Amino acid sequence: MLLTLVIAFLSMASAMTVHGASRFGDLLAEADSVRSSNPKRFLEIIDDLDKRKSEATKLESQKLRYLQAFSSIYQDRFAEGVNQSTKLYGHVSDVDLKFRTGSLIANLTAISRDFSTGLPYVHSNLEMRDEVKDKSIRQDGIGAAAMFYNQMGQYSLGLKYADEVLGGSPAPRVKCFASSVKLESQQVLGKLDGSSHAFDSALADCLKIPELMAASMLRATRARELAKLGRIEDAVALLEQDALPDVLATHYPRLIAEIRSLLGELKLKKGDLDEAQKQASETVALGDAIKSTQALVTAYGTLYQIAERRGQTDQALAMYKQYAHAEKAYLGDVKAREVAFVIFREKTEQQTQQLALERVSAQKARLAMVFLMLLLVGIIFWAIQIKRHQSQLQRLAQTDTLTGLGNRHFFTQKSERALIDAARAGQPAALVMFDLDHFKAINDTYGHGAGDWVLKQVGKTCSSHCRKVDYLGRIGGEEFAVLLHGLDLPTAARLAEDCRSQLAQIDTRECGYSFVVTASFGVSSTAQSGYDLSRLLSHADQMLYRAKNEGRNRVCAYTAETAADYKSPKRAPTLSVVGG
Ligand code: GH3
Ligand code: MG
Ligand code: MG
Repeated sequence: MLLTLVIAFLSMASAMTVHGASRFGDLLAEADSVRSSNPKRFLEIIDDLDKRKSEATKLESQKLRYLQAFSSIYQDRFAEGVNQSTKLYGHVSDVDLKFRTGSLIANLTAISRDFSTGLPYVHSNLEMRDEVKDKSIRQDGIGAAAMFYNQMGQYSLGLKYADEVLGGSPAPRVKCFASSVKLESQQVLGKLDGSSHAFDSALADCLKIPELMAASMLRATRARELAKLGRIEDAVALLEQDALPDVLATHYPRLIAEIRSLLGELKLKKGDLDEAQKQASETVALGDAIKSTQALVTAYGTLYQIAERRGQTDQALAMYKQYAHAEKAYLGDVKAREVAFVIFREKTEQQTQQLALERVSAQKARLAMVFLMLLLVGIIFWAIQIKRHQSQLQRLAQTDTLTGLGNRHFFTQKSERALIDAARAGQPAALVMFDLDHFKAINDTYGHGAGDWVLKQVGKTCSSHCRKVDYLGRIGGEEFAVLLHGLDLPTAARLAEDCRSQLAQIDTRECGYSFVVTASFGVSSTAQSGYDLSRLLSHADQMLYRAKNEGRNRVCAYTAETAADYKSPKRAPTLSVVGG
């Protein structure tokens, strides 16, 4: 029975772990542990659990579906089992359960010889094998893949994965199956050296369990090897005495056919026609269960040769026809498996190439993005630098480096704009101009350094008296000007007076000398002079010189009266003088 083989494969898998103490979970674990040893109990539990599905967690219900797919084996419903497990495979997120489901698909499709369905699952299972946490589940799955590949005729892959399993100190049953897969593929690939050592130790492992299926596979391989070495007697003895009784106990037709057909072939070689005929006929009698097998081809070949030797021409012809028919079916099956494999491999390679291409183009896109980002960052950095540089240049162009105040050009620009705004808003503005008194004498007496120090102090002192909205500028060597927003003439004059008095209080000892700093102030306002800056400057300048003439250290404002004085210079101007 095929059943026996599947159970033998699948009983390699370890029992599921019980999560939580729910009765459902316990039963599930029990079903899993008895699924091979006690099919009756297993099917009962599965039935029971199916009725109580609503109690299950998501993972539990997926485990139940796995066991239900497994149970298909007991009703010889392989196709249904494959259908259930392939559906489940796509939904399971638990890696170990997914892997077990993949291993079940590998086994079911190998038994039902539906290789093209099984192949993608075997492939994807192998790809995920490193993520499987449970070692025995992982090794069972790799073992199942090795078996699948051998059954499919891909012996190199069978050998590769059998080796992988054997390299990981597997459990005895897995070891026994993997060894038999390994020796079979080595034989087909011509990699055996004729020594019996590997066979003997693998056989001992399998008989210890006991695992008759794998033991029979091993003996068939060894018998073929012995026959190849010309040791027909030994091969026959191995098959007749050991292999045949055990393989009959497995009830697995393909394996029985293998042993019997080989035995028949060897008996023929020995000239024992009757025994040869008996074995070959028993093989052929297995019928549909062994169609498209090498064993059937061998059996018909043997029967044909027996009939020929016996001079039974009609029988020989009939057997030859059967032989040719069986061989055609067998080769067709081999070809179909080969084609299925090649198609899958090409599809996978294409997908791999496609993935690689996509990866490369994604990498290129990422690189281009990084490059563009760097470029953008570079441009932004460069733009910021330029902007900073421009602002620096602009500040330099606008600022008087000694005092930090705006220079004449900047003062003019700002003031003109402010006056336009004030005119538009109908607000007054005033202009104060002042020039330090006898500054040349300060330079001459205390040095240029002291002069510079005084200029800085004057800038600071006046700045602290100005509001934020006012513009203070150094408009000449020791000449300053302030545009005062919203102030009329008297208020501006008061502010100028304040400033004058503060300058006079500058403590010059800090620069190493003690002297008094004074300045003469001229004030003009929009009420008298209008909103034109040059007129305001000119009138303030006139007042400044007036202040100088009047004795310095004072403030003169351009009033209607003073304006009249300037128009008739004969009349002595009336000063709005404060301090002195
Ligand atoms: P007055 O009271 O009539 O204004 O006399 P004054 O000496 O202040 O005027 P004058 O125009 O004769 O001299 C101005 C001096 O200011 C001449 C110049 O050397 C000096 N000066 C101009 N700029 C600077 C500067 O940046 N630093 C220094 N230390 N001196 C300067
Ligand atoms: Mg001066
Ligand atoms: Mg001057």
